Amino acid sequence: MSIREISHWIGGHCVPGTSGRSGPVFDPARGVQTGSVAFASVEEVDAAVQAARAAFPAWAATPPLARARVMFRFRELLEARAAQIAALISSEHGKVISDARGELTRGIEVVEFACGIPQLLKGEFSGNVGSAVDSTALRQPLGVVAGITPFNFPAMVPMWMFPVAIASGNTFVLKPSERDPGTAGLLAELLAEAGLPAGVFNVVHGDRIAVDALLDHPDVAAVSFVGSTAIARHVYARGCAAGKRVQALGGAKNHLVVMPDADLEQAVDALIGAAYGSAGERCMAISVAVAVGEATADALVARLAPRVAGLRVGPGDDALAEMGPLVSAEHRARVAGYIARGIEEGAEAVVDGRGLRIEGCEDGFFLGGTLFDRVRPDMAIWREEIFGPVLAIVRVPDYAAALALVNSHEYGNGAALFTRDGDTARHFTEHVSAGMVGINVPIPVPMAFHSFGGWKASLFGDHHVHGPEGVRFYTRLKTVTSRWPTGIRAGAQFAMPTLG
Ligand code: NAD
Repeated sequence: MSIREISHWIGGHCVPGTSGRSGPVFDPARGVQTGSVAFASVEEVDAAVQAARAAFPAWAATPPLARARVMFRFRELLEARAAQIAALISSEHGKVISDARGELTRGIEVVEFACGIPQLLKGEFSGNVGSAVDSTALRQPLGVVAGITPFNFPAMVPMWMFPVAIASGNTFVLKPSERDPGTAGLLAELLAEAGLPAGVFNVVHGDRIAVDALLDHPDVAAVSFVGSTAIARHVYARGCAAGKRVQALGGAKNHLVVMPDADLEQAVDALIGAAYGSAGERCMAISVAVAVGEATADALVARLAPRVAGLRVGPGDDALAEMGPLVSAEHRARVAGYIARGIEEGAEAVVDGRGLRIEGCEDGFFLGGTLFDRVRPDMAIWREEIFGPVLAIVRVPDYAAALALVNSHEYGNGAALFTRDGDTARHFTEHVSAGMVGINVPIPVPMAFHSFGGWKASLFGDHHVHGPEGVRFYTRLKTVTSRWPTGIRAGAQFAMPTLG
């Protein structure tokens, strides 16, 4: 099989790497290398930033309506090419095609939000704040902004960022994950086809050298990062030290609390989809089910076990598969290591997904669904993010213990409660320490016109992504106070100006 070369996209063109460094790209379902991605040097990152910097003045001066029209055309191209994009995502990431199509749809919704940029950038005006004095507040773009993204959503997470950034008048440099980099180049081509001027959107591939070059670059005004917490902390500290605006979204351990009064069948369906969809490689996956009361726990385990054991696992292009492989051999080994550790630490492995073999895909990075019961907070499988198809059930005696458990975790991305009781739901919504809350909704990912972000070690910075927070992140406020000569002369004033 020939190996596909994946190049950078700088100044409106495909630019092959010159650093001499590259990384392999795999088909995770077959376990074979299908591509090679160039890793950018500091000089190549600088070339992308310079292209973005050169494009900024004209793009920032382009009327918001004209910028929106590029987004409208981009949206149409994404819809027209959706099948091709979903197939590409699936071939490098491993997720099933329907899931890849779903992530693209969530990305397109952000493009649709960005199409409303003329309305979103409308400023504020106060007439006659003093005699013949008017005040206007407007939001202006920052300049060159960078996005650094993880492997698990190669289309959606970049699209959380660049449509809003670009529509707001910034120019953009994307550093996608080196594990599934192909989609970024295709998005760049479609943006060019939609009429985006050269240099407004650039892609540099690579590893920590490219990331640190963006963080240190004096011409990069802001950085959006999504990935693991360890790297998010690094990006936030280094980017802030270089004087940039930074939003860095990190890892997660999302809990779903099942109350004794919950609709159990609904809760089980929700858990199966939210824990095992995309092989658990979602930052909003549910990885812990908190069962309130022994009877609730026993009923949950009895219903979940056969469903987990019966999950249809297969390559992403198998239309019947519900779950694909993990992204890499290393990640598969890491998740399998957590399963071994859970057993060592005394959790009860109700279903153990290790040892799964898929006919015709024996070298793929597959792991079957795994279900643990009687997990305790002192165990690594509760404390740490596993990012695989592993669901842990923690048994607690009552609602107060469930809330305390959720709130004691280091992460605070999403949390969900299944109940029929309005009082409990309201209390949970008010008191849970998480940025996104679901009531009888397992994966409460906000729509594009709201904003996405967690609390605690799941987000460093002040702004969530996309929606109104995205516009705030990618623009800065300017307040103009003006007085036109009217014949009124106040004379020189030495005291602080006041109305009275
Ligand atoms: P990762 O942290 O390994 O990589 C993210 C990005 O950082 C990639 O572009 C990668 O090239 C870069 N990177 C990796 N190591 C680096 C280093 N040492 N220095 C500088 N840059 C480095 O994350 P991943 O494995 O690609 O993605 C999975 C993680 O992302 C999970 O922890 C998941 O929870 C998280 N995630 C969070 C959200 C969210 O919204 N909070 C969304 C998606 C994924």
